[in-house]
Amino acid sequence: MPNFVTRFAPSPTGLLHLGHAYSALLAYQAAKARNGRYSLRIEDIDQTRCKPAFETAILEDLEWLGIEWEQPVRRQSDHFDDYKAALASLRERGLVYRCFKTRKEITDEIARAPHTTPEGPQYFGAPLAPSEEQKRIDAGEPFAWRLSISAAKKLLGKKFDTLCFRERNSNGDIQEVKAAPDIFGDPVIARKDAGTSYHLASVHDDALQGITDVIRGTDLASAAHLHRLLQELLGYPEPIYHHHQLITDDAGNRLAKRDKSMTLRSLREGGATPSDLIARLGL
Ligand code: GLU
Repeated sequence: MPNFVTRFAPSPTGLLHLGHAYSALLAYQAAKARNGRYSLRIEDIDQTRCKPAFETAILEDLEWLGIEWEQPVRRQSDHFDDYKAALASLRERGLVYRCFKTRKEITDEIARAPHTTPEGPQYFGAPLAPSEEQKRIDAGEPFAWRLSISAAKKLLGKKFDTLCFRERNSNGDIQEVKAAPDIFGDPVIARKDAGTSYHLASVHDDALQGITDVIRGTDLASAAHLHRLLQELLGYPEPIYHHHQLITDDAGNRLAKRDKSMTLRSLREGGATPSDLIARLGL
C-alpha cells in the first residue's frame, strides 16, 4: 500500500486556469516524489453549474500538462446514493436537522443577532417541532439538512474542543492546527437542490479513495475545520492537509474561471508549452 495518496478535485463549472494547473501539478509532483498515488475526482454535485463539456476540457488540459491519474475517475454525480448513506448516518444520531428557511430568511436572522467569524456570519438554528415539520414536508416545501453544532458538541464532549487537523507547510513540516468546527455556524450538509454538499461529498470521497494528503488552495483552508469534525462524526480517517498559496494575476488578484486570458486553453492556443507554464509557476 503506498503511504501517500493524493488527488485533484476540480468542479467542472468552467475552464481550468493557471491556478488550477498549479494545484494539479503540485499534488502530482508530490505523489511522484513519494512514490504515491494520484487520483482525479470530478466534483459536479451542482448539476446546474457543472457541464460535461468542462469535464472533457479538464481531462484534455491535464493530459496536455503531462499529468497521469488513476482510473476510474470518480465523478460525484454518479454517487449521490453514497452521500445519502453518509447523511443517513448523521440523521440516525440526531446530528442534523431539516432547515426550510430561504436564503433571505437566514440573512435577516443573522442581521438581527450577528455572530461573525473571519469566515463570515454564522447561523445556528434548531429543528422545528415535529408537527410543524411534518406539515411542511406534506406541503412539499423544500429543505436543506444542517449539521447541528450543539448536537455534535454533546456527542463528542471534550473531544469537540480538542479536535485538531494536521497541516503540512511548504517545507514539509507538519503542524497541528486547532480546529474551530463551528466556524460556519450550523453548516448546510445537504443542499436543497443536491441532497449533499461539497463538505459531505468531499470528506466522504477522501475517505473512500484512501486519500492520505489533501493538497488544495488556501481558499479552502477554512473548510478543513469543518471537514475534521465530519471525519470524526463519520469515523473517517484524518488526512494531512497542505493548503498552498494561490496564483494571482499581475495586479495581485486571485484568478477566477471568468478570467479568460489565464485559462490553460487560451495559454495553449497562444503558444505556451507545458514546460513554460511549469517554469512560470515555479514548479
Ligand atoms: N472542487 C473544489 C474546487 O474546485 C476543490 C475541493 C477540494 O480540493 O477539496 O474548488
